Amino acid sequence: MISKNIDLKPYHTFGLEVKAKQFATFNSIKELKELFKDKVLMNQEVLILGGGSNVLFTKDFKGLVLKNNLTGVYQVREDAGFVWVEAMAGEVWHDLVIYAIENNLGGIENLSLIPGSVGAAPMQNIGAYGVELKDVFVGLEALNIETGKIHKFDSEACAFGYRESVFKRDLKNKFVIVSIVLKLSKQHVLNTSYGAIENELTNIELPTIKDVSDAVIKIRESKLPDPKLIGNSGSFFKYPVISLSAFELLKLEFPEISSYPVDESHVKVAAGWLIDHAGWKGKTFENYGVHKNQALVLVNYGGADGQSILDLSNDIIMDIKEKFNIDLEREVNVY
Ligand code: FAD
Ligand code: NAP
Repeated sequence: MISKNIDLKPYHTFGLEVKAKQFATFNSIKELKELFKDKVLMNQEVLILGGGSNVLFTKDFKGLVLKNNLTGVYQVREDAGFVWVEAMAGEVWHDLVIYAIENNLGGIENLSLIPGSVGAAPMQNIGAYGVELKDVFVGLEALNIETGKIHKFDSEACAFGYRESVFKRDLKNKFVIVSIVLKLSKQHVLNTSYGAIENELTNIELPTIKDVSDAVIKIRESKLPDPKLIGNSGSFFKYPVISLSAFELLKLEFPEISSYPVDESHVKVAAGWLIDHAGWKGKTFENYGVHKNQALVLVNYGGADGQSILDLSNDIIMDIKEKFNIDLEREVNVY
């Protein structure tokens, strides 16, 4: 059923007062296909919404918002070392992580507590604590909005990058991801390369995937602002990747700047460090600003409008360019 003039505040994590001209949910692929048969309905901008934890609305959405409610998790294949798990796109991502841990399947424990849906996970190749979706990804199925046909994408076709995929670029708003398949391990290789996880696990002799997940949950709960309390979309900006030579020059001027190697000739520069050192961390403008502990996170303290938050992000981008000659890119999807 199509509803009109629907308040989007309960459907996204920035807590903005915005409305959708039209709104519908779909509970099955059949229902989704039915919606796409209606050419009048579809002859407008369409936004597929999962948990709304990576979107910024700058105004009312003039088209149709489709809320994805496809559910189901299935073990579709198994060999001596791995289990192939298919999850429908409307499942909550963290519930899938819990399912994997309860079934002693490894590979996504570092991605615990990332908000949002399974279907959005490939959109930006979600990542945290040294693991990205692409590390366990096998393939996905997606419905072509123009033809109503289902297509299969393997990892290569998804063109995953750092918080990137083909769905965030060339195919943006052209496909509805309906399910994904992950290859999860029976014998686990833990990734505890991030200092914070290592610290949490020091007293555990033989950590399990559950221990890693618990550690990640504990760290995240202590560090990140809870969107139920303060509107936000997690990291608003990506970590910029620059050439090693540009970084060496920068280091002469800012010896304390932090970075992590990407490959032999590139490094990831700490975006939070740049924003902090440019003086933006904790800056508050009426009811929105930069979080006081997390410089990468822009926040709505209540009643802010999305355009002001977008303007703030543009001011930060320009300032970082001026001060460090680095191009910051937004991670959040702006509508
Ligand atoms: P939405 O916000 O609903 O949608 C995001 C984009 O994907 C939109 O453009 C939407 O149209 C599109 N989309 C959604 N579902 C589909 C679909 N089925 N088919 C096609 N397009 C679709 N991200 C990380 O990578 N790592 C983190 O550690 C992390 N931590 C976070 C912490 C907090 C507190 C918050 C608020 C966010 C964090 N994020 C993180 C960002 C966010 O959780 C992820 O990007 C998540 O995958 C978004 O899922 P969603 O369902 O909420 O997507
Ligand atoms: P953190 O652990 O304090 O580290 C700061 C940044 O440095 C991270 O973003 C990470 O880059 C990089 N880093 C740290 N240790 C590293 C290592 N050993 N090797 C390579 N890079 C390293 O960061 P945090 O803010 O608390 O976030 C923890 C993790 O959750 C990070 O992976 C972060 O990306 C993820 N996260 C993402 C979002 C989002 O919305 N996208 C929000 C919150 C947290 P990477 O970002 O490449 O990992």
